[in-house]
Amino acid sequence: MASAGNAPLWRELQSLGLLQARGGLLLGVTVAGMLVALMFALLSLLSWRGVLKPALVVLLFATALGAHFMWTYHIVIDSSMATNTLQTDWHEAKALMTPRLALVVLLGAVLPSWLVWRTAVAWRPWKQQALRNVAGFALAIVAFVALLLASFQPLASTMRNHRELRYLMNPLNTVYAVGYTAFGGKHMTGPLVPVGTDARVAAHGGKPRLLVLVLGETGRSGNFGINGYARDTTPELVQAKAASFRNAWSCGTSTAASVPCMFSPLGREAFLARDRDSENLLDVLQHAGLAVLWIDNQAGGCKGVCDRVPNVNTSGLHDPQLCPQGECRDEILLKGLDARLAALPADRRARGVVIVMHQMGSHGPAYYERTPAAYKRFQPECTSSHLPDCSQQALVNAYDNTIVYTDHVLGDTIRWLQQHGEDDGALLYVADHGESLGEDNLYLHGLPYSLAPDVQKHVPWITWLSPGFEQASGLSMQCLRTRADERITHDNLFHSVLGLMQVATSAYKRTLDTYTPCSGA
Ligand SMILES: [Zn+2]
Repeated sequence: MASAGNAPLWRELQSLGLLQARGGLLLGVTVAGMLVALMFALLSLLSWRGVLKPALVVLLFATALGAHFMWTYHIVIDSSMATNTLQTDWHEAKALMTPRLALVVLLGAVLPSWLVWRTAVAWRPWKQQALRNVAGFALAIVAFVALLLASFQPLASTMRNHRELRYLMNPLNTVYAVGYTAFGGKHMTGPLVPVGTDARVAAHGGKPRLLVLVLGETGRSGNFGINGYARDTTPELVQAKAASFRNAWSCGTSTAASVPCMFSPLGREAFLARDRDSENLLDVLQHAGLAVLWIDNQAGGCKGVCDRVPNVNTSGLHDPQLCPQGECRDEILLKGLDARLAALPADRRARGVVIVMHQMGSHGPAYYERTPAAYKRFQPECTSSHLPDCSQQALVNAYDNTIVYTDHVLGDTIRWLQQHGEDDGALLYVADHGESLGEDNLYLHGLPYSLAPDVQKHVPWITWLSPGFEQASGLSMQCLRTRADERITHDNLFHSVLGLMQVATSAYKRTLDTYTPCSGA
């Protein structure tokens, strides 16, 4: 576990030039020694009949799995990665199962586990055993401290400058992350803090407003043609003259981190520091008497955000055209939408409607599975889930094809809104986080925020307003287009949607409403 199981750590130390430097070998040996000491300390506490062997098996599997994913995708394992893993659904996980993973698990976990299991252990009477365990633990800690002190100078500066290294220490990173998530992390206590219970729709004299908020999945701002990308990945949005904010930034680097934060009234900083959960944007819209509907095309769902509003999940439907091989394309979100809309309470609909569509979008690593053949404009595309097998160009092709398809889904949504002339329609598309596509050998997303490259945090934020909406609101798309480079973040989403729907509430902050500078009022 401390040697081969930490291949990603050794590779990182090597690539930082630390192992080749003067005293580099000593540094490597010291780090390995510290890993051994910590593992020994941990296992000393677990050294009981009926406990030790299962614990070793679990650690061996954690080591093999952790090493494989860290090595292949250059991810690191922290508590938010543990949360993502626990919330991942089978469909998403399936794509990560590659032959190489099977081989790593077989050689790195199954085989050594079998050896562990058949090794005879001489157990002592429990008092003696307890003494030995405590002595083993104490010795290991002494050894760890001695190694730490001996190498403090180079190690301290290394760890300070490269904080990602501690997330690579396998399998202690997993033990720590799981332990932190289970016991150490913040646990929200008490009932939800109510938000915007005073909300109401300001009288505006116009038609009811109909907003479709498309919650994008894994959108890289830079890969959208409308944002100036060299490839024309968004012909339909360009044709619809949508307004794009090209300088928008996410709250987190994963779905589980970003989605609850985006809909929260708190903004990123206060959201991370909160000790109680609060109601969110959808609750406020509902308090205001609007009709709200959440349609989810991810099996993983809405991460609790839509729990108190009408919601439906389309990911398990069996539409022969839209759901080949058991996974539904995002066009399923629009199927039967008229009926879903009509089923919402009429008195609420008369005040206005907000429909949230949570896409499957560009979810990796199997980007190629997200797009129907007709949208595979860029070839050749990567058709492996083991992303380092593909050239970066093929990977980018597969990813860009998912954007072409998302553009089509957004185009369809705009056409659907145009058919609803009895309402003033608007579309807002915002993605939850970005993605790494092999830059610096990084793949996927979910790196700790402070370490994540910009491509994992720079997200698309695209607005389309029907002429009726523009006229009634005084908000002009022309004005929005002139503000394309203004820096905005997910912190703005809560207030921007309230502003678009003309919801008056004490929870609304006009200064955080992205659209304020362009609203005629
Ligand atoms: Zn996501």
